[in-house]
Amino acid sequence: MRRTALSGLLLLTLAAPALAADAPKKLGYTDTPVIPGQKWRVHDIDRPQPPDVDPGTGSPPAEPGTPPSDAVVLFDGKDLSKWVSAKGGGAAPWKVENGYAESAGGDIRTKDAFGDVQLHIEWATPDPPRGDAYNRGNSGIYFFGLYELQVFESYKGGIYADGQAGAIYGQYPALVNACRKPGAWQAFDAVFTAPRFKDGALASPAFMTVLHNGVLVHNHAALSGPTAHRAVAKYAPHEPKGPITLQDHGNPVRYRNIWVREIKGYDGQ
Ligand code: MG
Repeated sequence: MRRTALSGLLLLTLAAPALAADAPKKLGYTDTPVIPGQKWRVHDIDRPQPPDVDPGTGSPPAEPGTPPSDAVVLFDGKDLSKWVSAKGGGAAPWKVENGYAESAGGDIRTKDAFGDVQLHIEWATPDPPRGDAYNRGNSGIYFFGLYELQVFESYKGGIYADGQAGAIYGQYPALVNACRKPGAWQAFDAVFTAPRFKDGALASPAFMTVLHNGVLVHNHAALSGPTAHRAVAKYAPHEPKGPITLQDHGNPVRYRNIWVREIKGYDGQ
């Protein structure tokens, strides 16, 4: 008996460090600036992770549907003729096959410029996941090439809250985590209101409302500026319209069924 108890104790002692090493590692930062108007730091390691919500089965549909009649179709699964390389403006380098485009070879942006828009876009991160914990399935959608709605593999959490899928990167985590598993098609339906500038100064910030797989994750969130990494966002005046950019962060993230509806007459623009 005694010998058995001692053996058990020895096993526990040996096992303890291994268990500690296997505990989930928190990801984020403690040395970044505080986000203006919030109590959290940029990419705050202690910011609570959004609670998980099962989005159900309605969004996106198993096969892409057709867009509204007044939509501008940016990608219908056939070609990237509405897109160019964000660097240099040449042909969009991403691979197109089986009805989707897959990120590789750098960011791409739309040829056309947009102001206020309703955007629909479907995406899927790699399965099995690609990239380390800080870049797992990393991609993103940038309005004006500046304001990122994050695409990431964060099913059940992972990276710091303001870096997960559906985050307005570095500013607002999604209200809830409505992610699907790696490899599954997911959808964003977003309303982006462009910032207004007057006499070289900010007159009204950008706003985003976003549904992730049909679940509300931002409700008219006021952006503090263009997306920044480990830094506070700061506005600089820009044109009233700009391109939509898709990020290539070195992981083969897939996109399909991309369209926008331009929102006109909102404030006389
Ligand atoms: Mg990203």
